[in-house]
Amino acid sequence: MDKKSRKLGEECGVFGVSLTETEGAGLTYNALLALQHRGQESAGIAVLVDRSIRCYKDQGLASEIFNDEALKKLPDAAMAIGHVRYSTTGASCSENAQPIVIEYLRGRLAVAHNGNIVNGMEIKAELEKGGCDFTATTDSEVIATLIAYEALSCSNIEEAVAKAATRLRGAFSLVVLSSQGKLIALRDGWGFRPLCIGEGSLGLAVSSESCALESAGFEFLRDVQPGEMLVIDQKQQMVSSQVLEKDRQGLCIFEYVYFARPDSVIDGLSVYKARFRAGQVLAREYPVEADVVCGVPDSGLEAAQGYSAASGIPFVSGFLKNRYIGRSFIFPSQKQRETAVRLKLNPLKTNISGKRIVLVDDSIVRGTTSAKIIKSLKEAGAAEVHLRISSPPFKYTCHFGTDIDDAKNLIANQISQEELRQRIGADSLGYISLEGLQEACGDCALPFCVGCFNGDYPMAVEE
Ligand code: AMP
Repeated sequence: MDKKSRKLGEECGVFGVSLTETEGAGLTYNALLALQHRGQESAGIAVLVDRSIRCYKDQGLASEIFNDEALKKLPDAAMAIGHVRYSTTGASCSENAQPIVIEYLRGRLAVAHNGNIVNGMEIKAELEKGGCDFTATTDSEVIATLIAYEALSCSNIEEAVAKAATRLRGAFSLVVLSSQGKLIALRDGWGFRPLCIGEGSLGLAVSSESCALESAGFEFLRDVQPGEMLVIDQKQQMVSSQVLEKDRQGLCIFEYVYFARPDSVIDGLSVYKARFRAGQVLAREYPVEADVVCGVPDSGLEAAQGYSAASGIPFVSGFLKNRYIGRSFIFPSQKQRETAVRLKLNPLKTNISGKRIVLVDDSIVRGTTSAKIIKSLKEAGAAEVHLRISSPPFKYTCHFGTDIDDAKNLIANQISQEELRQRIGADSLGYISLEGLQEACGDCALPFCVGCFNGDYPMAVEE
């Protein structure tokens, strides 16, 4: 994929199970379907069989990769991990698909990673000096190699994972499967990306989001805490240890704005609730006289409902979304994406024509989506379109898992809000304030990283 033509990238989803039955591959596949929104570029499953790890991964959606034939290639196994990917570092190619399987002192290990570390190049250079080879171009491969390297001087794999983690700076929610029969989950000390644990009649699972636990038949137990490592064995015994300092400053607030699924609960806060409340706050901060409120499907819908509830302006469907095509941003070139937006959302004229509309979306990145959507609403007869955005202006690069090709491409950096309003053809434009978004997310147990909105990152980063 042409990196330059890509806009913001989504990040990844990870999952892992230790079961009493050999249903590992099937349940992991189900979970990947539920995590698909976190990455559509590649997917993979690694299973533990007879002290060996087998992995099947490819580019594409989980449902495309794991057809009957591919699922048959994955043997019955009680332990498995899975990954869905959208590239944040490294190119989009099959070598970069995960889980990454690597040999280590006592066998093999498979690693699935969500996040982005900021000292990957530095560690890679050191490992290369120490004789390690790399085939992919991701920081996830660096993490896997580092674990294998640390294993040389550790008595077991969990010690190696914990030791490796102390070297990493940045975002890492990790799920590791070792051929010694251990499933390990670890969340960085800042808690940038979500990670949670579930329990079911068949055993234990760890997942990026609770929606995937539920979809795969597990009940949410709790979140993995920042800096916590869980080691689960083949008998579903789980041992927790705090292996990294809890820096307690870093859960990505954009998880609530856009990334996560609304039916997930992350660190005590329902994603749905956060979005709904953001809409309520927006209505308070940017009221307007209008006839209807519409949300941009899908990620603007909950905030639109909140705006409607707080303002008393009726919520209506403004668009019909074609559910049978991929998300527009998975298309590689700008030209393809432009056609895809029209293919994807068709205005519902009955609800739009002659109406003054409050249109709610979760974010403006380059401004292309909003411009097209407003144009299509006006062509469908909308009298006025007042755009309301449930996140503050997106101005700064993310170093922790959200891929932005260049901060210069963020429209909020280039022109004033009034110029942007004119460019996208809105009758008015209002972004929620950062304080307003933090208020909407107030029930979260962790403090947030809001670096993409104010440039204030929880750790030093090299620009
Ligand atoms: P743009 O057209 O570049 O302004 O993109 C804004 C649209 O992209 C919004 O409708 C968002 O829902 C969506 N969006 C926000 N964040 C991301 C992301 N990280 N990856 C892909 N799409 C995103």
